[in-house]
Amino acid sequence: MKNEQIKVKCVGMDEEGKGIVKIKGKEVHVPYLIDGETAVVEVTEKRNFISAKVVRIQEKSKDRVIPKCKYFNQCGGCQLQHLSYEAQGNFKQNSILKLMKKYKKVNEILTMKDPYFYRNKVHAAVAYDKKGDIVSGIYEENTHHVTAVKECIIQHKPADEITESIRELMKSFKLKPYNEDTGQGFLRHVLVKTGFVSKQVMVVLVVSSQVFPGKNNFVNELLKKHPEITTVVMNVNNRKTSVVLGETEKVLFGKGYIEDTLCGCIFQISPKSFYQINPIQTEVLYNKAIDMAKLTSNEIVLDAYCGIGTISLIVSHKAKNVIGVELNKDAVKDAIKNAKRNKINNVHFYNEDAGKFMVELAKKKQSIDTVFMDPPRSGSDEKFLSSLVHLEPKKIIYISCNPITQERDLRYLTKHGYSVEEIQPVDMFPQTYHVETVCLMSRV
Ligand code: SAH
Repeated sequence: MKNEQIKVKCVGMDEEGKGIVKIKGKEVHVPYLIDGETAVVEVTEKRNFISAKVVRIQEKSKDRVIPKCKYFNQCGGCQLQHLSYEAQGNFKQNSILKLMKKYKKVNEILTMKDPYFYRNKVHAAVAYDKKGDIVSGIYEENTHHVTAVKECIIQHKPADEITESIRELMKSFKLKPYNEDTGQGFLRHVLVKTGFVSKQVMVVLVVSSQVFPGKNNFVNELLKKHPEITTVVMNVNNRKTSVVLGETEKVLFGKGYIEDTLCGCIFQISPKSFYQINPIQTEVLYNKAIDMAKLTSNEIVLDAYCGIGTISLIVSHKAKNVIGVELNKDAVKDAIKNAKRNKINNVHFYNEDAGKFMVELAKKKQSIDTVFMDPPRSGSDEKFLSSLVHLEPKKIIYISCNPITQERDLRYLTKHGYSVEEIQPVDMFPQTYHVETVCLMSRV
């Protein structure tokens, strides 16, 4: 079967929001198809693997809307713009209900009032297009090809304008975009981070070499066009890698970081430090997590995978002591400065692998009452979890941006003395299939 068009009926949706259909007795996942719809799809079969894409929808779902973004089908950054926002919420709720079925403790998802322009961090890869024009946008999946994206409806708007000015300035300064295949060229990526409350804007120019001809004039021209920029950093990445940021950094203008306020605390954010990308929903998430902990000011709290110390500092007012642990050294430096900045002195930060750190705490028989943990997408590891259950905190509040690894870790914890009390999904990433969950566990 090659490039054949057939009619299919969608019988469900997978966790990435793709429609599930049956073709030749096999389950096939089709992007941009909604449960209940019938459609004509084009089928490709390669080495026994069947894929299909929508040619036309025949019977439309009531949940289908016209995507607001003109790049929706090429870009891949969002997967759900063809679903109404209400239906996106239902889709996320149902996938968490299905995954966490056995716990019977899932609350209604907390969605966003205005689910657009929420991202405070914008990444754009820079390249030549086929005509030789400089474009910026995102890499198409598994390729070195950049899809030009001039405006994005989930990103903070000024970032698009700044990126556009950088493209124009590159022409007048004769700076070439980097080519991932040949390793030639200069500018690789533009990263813009914005403090929604402080209105501070950081531009990071990721370049392939220390030698930046005309850098002072370049920065001056950029600042003239965008007086809202408060700092510009050059990050040198001369490796052939898909990792965006390199090791070496040089501040070209301003302080080299931005600040922002979350739940009443001020945070300093460096180019490489992790900071939640949707600050409005982060407050919703943190408030829920802190509420679950029911702290009484007497607890010793551990904040594992603490980033720049956001949760640690926000809960410090309700705890006796807080210990934060984080692997990224820049984030830990930020966290220590953030504690000073907010005049908080009952928090201590450690720059270590969380698993290794937990093993040491368990050896020392450190007393811990409440643990907040917020690991990366890969979830936690057995080293961490086994020491965690050894420490026997009364409560564990597990925040996750990947419910699949969270569910795996919940299975471990529920086998080792904990019960799931409450699971709260939060929509941190509208228009995409991603969903954040916070889970309260207590010792049985
Ligand atoms: N709680 C923070 C950060 C969560 S993101 C917030 O809400 O902002 C996850 C964090 O885990 C990142 O900062 C990442 O650098 C860190 N991390 C990843 N692997 C780690 C490990 N093995 N040990 C400790 N921290 C780790």
